[in-house]
Amino acid sequence: MTSLLITNGLLATLDDDNRFVENGCVYVEGDRIVAAGDLDTSSYSPDRTLDAGGKLVMPGLINAHHHLYSTFARGFTPPGPQATNFDQNLKRLWWKLDAALDSEDVYHSALLALMDSARAGCTTIIDHHASPSCSDGSLDQVEQAFRDVGLSGCLCYEVSDRNKDGEGIEENERYIRKCRDSDDGQMTALFGLHASMTLGNDTLQRCADIAHELEAGFHVHAAEDVIDVQMTQERYGQGIMDRFVDFGIPGSKTIFVHGTCLEAAEMDALQATDSVLVNNPESNMNNGLGVSPILDMLKHGVTVGVGTDGISSHLISQARAMYLHQRAEHRDPTLAFAEACEILLRNNSHIANRLFAEPRGTLAAGQLADVVIHDYVPFTPLNADTFYGHLLFGLSFSRIQTTIARGRVVVDDGRLPHLDEEAIRAHCRERARTLWARIN
Ligand SMILES: [Zn+2]
Repeated sequence: MTSLLITNGLLATLDDDNRFVENGCVYVEGDRIVAAGDLDTSSYSPDRTLDAGGKLVMPGLINAHHHLYSTFARGFTPPGPQATNFDQNLKRLWWKLDAALDSEDVYHSALLALMDSARAGCTTIIDHHASPSCSDGSLDQVEQAFRDVGLSGCLCYEVSDRNKDGEGIEENERYIRKCRDSDDGQMTALFGLHASMTLGNDTLQRCADIAHELEAGFHVHAAEDVIDVQMTQERYGQGIMDRFVDFGIPGSKTIFVHGTCLEAAEMDALQATDSVLVNNPESNMNNGLGVSPILDMLKHGVTVGVGTDGISSHLISQARAMYLHQRAEHRDPTLAFAEACEILLRNNSHIANRLFAEPRGTLAAGQLADVVIHDYVPFTPLNADTFYGHLLFGLSFSRIQTTIARGRVVVDDGRLPHLDEEAIRAHCRERARTLWARIN
């Protein structure tokens, strides 16, 4: 079992006592933290020692909603007139892009985004995948990218009726069984659903039956735009959460994403079922959608998390966007600062710990060894009272020096030492060119 010792770090443990430790150490054996804090290291004989040089050391971050398949959209303009609403945006861009992906594109899209994630200090990603032309086995391609970069993943395939009824059901079932039958904790699975507006009753019932038999939670967009609310009302005569409740979709392992248009009674339904709601502020702003009422959701007792929705792999910038988004919406400079930080650092850990067997999210004995050294030495006091200011005004703009995921150094002085990054990028530029040509 390999061992690793980080010395001379400014530790933000995020543990139950919220300890900040100057000149602190983290000792790792295998994929677990053995000890973290002000340690007497004389009894350790680690395989490798990393001197953090007084820089900030934190647990790896968790992305509660990503679309790794969207990577090759960077810089792409779809053919035809520009989309002017959410429905057109799905049909003209995203559903053309995902339909054009082949299985090698699926692997490389995930690989690039996971390399970015590691370099942004994110070590666990909850992904929502779609690739209709190669759905069977696609989650294995995504999983391979996780294994090659070294991060932890929770995968699902977004079922919808948009191309053919129930597309993706078999892939979810296969992959959930694969994870359940494996004793490896790196990957886990949810049952993926696109959104209420793209799922007929027969499909939703089939998904519910399978997921309930497998005791799996769901990962689904909900009320991202008013069109989802309107189409659900027109076709099924009910609200989104009422419909999902009828099919048994909510629960403590279910992640609803966005909730931009959810009403107070629907927040109560989220709380009553112990479901999660994940906010993606940059994505909502980019799509010109409403501001998700997350402060109301917190008041209703909902567990709110934060994700990137594929717009980037950088989590701290999402927490920053979240509080700015709320302040602009409410024209109130007192709102959402601590809430955004706690959602990022605490709630996302609670969400991951519902889905993964290995505990994560703090620097403490027994936790998964996901540890990040930020290239950040504070020039004002850093402690429990000031940390959130450093997080949103300093760390959001600083680079990552070292990322340790599952006890392995996956970013070393800003580089991923186990991957040929230049060759991967050159290969991907060619793949992207061909992919774009196929769509056009
Ligand atoms: Zn999404």
